[in-house]
Amino acid sequence: KLGNATAKAELGRAAWKVLHTTFARFPKKPTDDEKEALRSFVHLFQRLYPCGECAEHFGKVLAKYPPQVSSRSAAAGWGCFVHNVVNKRLGKPEFNCEDIGDAYDCGCGDEEPKTKG
Ligand code: FAD
Repeated sequence: KLGNATAKAELGRAAWKVLHTTFARFPKKPTDDEKEALRSFVHLFQRLYPCGECAEHFGKVLAKYPPQVSSRSAAAGWGCFVHNVVNKRLGKPEFNCEDIGDAYDCGCGDEEPKTKG
């Protein structure tokens, strides 16, 4: 079936935004519980992702490249890497992952609560 490419692309942009912003805010020194939460989140995100074709492909990406949850920079770097895997498959340009540090601001205005990070 043909589907709706515009809706699929909008969903993708929104989804990547949530993912990258989540990784950008993940603790620098996560607890084991926080690490497990991120791992679960990524796997459930894949499982429940509304575009079935996308979810199926992303499942294979996760099997090959499991989520990196040891730190904020590991998570953000991994997120950029797997997004580039998807970019490549879709014929999109590669994103320079060295720029990932500044690219995703949640606008929360509370960067680095003193007890975390
Ligand atoms: P997007 O790829 O949505 O990226 C949005 C913005 O993020 C870019 O403009 C850029 O500023 C930034 N960005 C780009 N690359 C990176 C990176 N590596 N790291 C950080 N930021 C970056 N669509 C399909 O048609 N088929 C699929 O199989 C498919 N699978 C998907 C799987 C997942 C898990 C997700 C979340 C989306 C998937 N999509 C799929 C949607 C697709 O990835 C795009 O989101 C959609 O095509 C819109 O592309 P875009 O060019 O606007 O930029």
